[in-house]
Amino acid sequence: MSAPRYMEIPTFMRAPLVDDLTDFDIAMIGVPYDGAVTNRPGARHGPREIRNASSMMRSINPSTRVNPYELCRIGDGGDVAFTRAYDIEGAHADIEARFSVIHLAGVTALAAGGDHSISLPILRALASEQPVGLIHIDAHTDTWDEFMGSPYSHGTPFRRATEEGLIDPKRTVQIGIRGAQNSSEGWDYSAASGMRVLFMEDVTRMGIDAVADEARRIVGEAPTYLSFDIDSLDPAFAPGTGTPEVGGLTTVESLALLRKLRGLHLVGADLVEVAPAYDPSGTTALVGATIMYELLCLLAESQ
Ligand code: MN
Ligand code: MN
Repeated sequence: MSAPRYMEIPTFMRAPLVDDLTDFDIAMIGVPYDGAVTNRPGARHGPREIRNASSMMRSINPSTRVNPYELCRIGDGGDVAFTRAYDIEGAHADIEARFSVIHLAGVTALAAGGDHSISLPILRALASEQPVGLIHIDAHTDTWDEFMGSPYSHGTPFRRATEEGLIDPKRTVQIGIRGAQNSSEGWDYSAASGMRVLFMEDVTRMGIDAVADEARRIVGEAPTYLSFDIDSLDPAFAPGTGTPEVGGLTTVESLALLRKLRGLHLVGADLVEVAPAYDPSGTTALVGATIMYELLCLLAESQ
């Protein structure tokens, strides 16, 4: 509160930069990587634009009255430092290494992508001891097997995470799924592995409160990760993303859903697939920053 919000270097939420991890409970980390997209690139520019838009965020949640900064020491941990930015498995190794250091320091990470492939190396860092539950909000299940011979695109992270024992598919819920596909193989894998898949028409029929209740029932009280793909929102609200699908969540529904997920045992979260170049208005980055703020409130209460 010492300077107007338009001043100084725009860190996430205007939080202090993390110098020593031991001084922090939650670190917000940029993951500017989009080398695993299957179609339109641009999410590598997400973290910088989200940082800029996040200067609009304030501290007290208008709905829950949670002030995350009173509950936790929160900082901006900078971006993942890539040594192999143009090689998918190398970039994933860089991401895993950074999040492992944060995890081993006892700090909770809130990541800003980047394409959705980044969730796999983050889960490798967080869930190496035991599989976690997963609340996955997205237009796509991201449980396809491969694209053009690559097993590590942004359409595959939660299939790999299941195979690697990082997430428990029986404690996984996917919310907002929609959009025509050329093969139902990913949808089929999610269902066959035991994930609860709530297509957008299910969300509409059930209503947000019932969707949140179902998500809570599925993940229970054990450690859970939350992954939010901005393309879960309708492109009317978030056009700046690589794989938009019409007929999605509204901003009002997204905020209501997250605010109904208080009190879970969240061990980390990410907000991915903001690709600012497809949205000259800047709205998508603002929505992304606002979703990140809500995730921050949830993580702070989980500490
Ligand atoms: Mn996704
Ligand atoms: Mn998606």
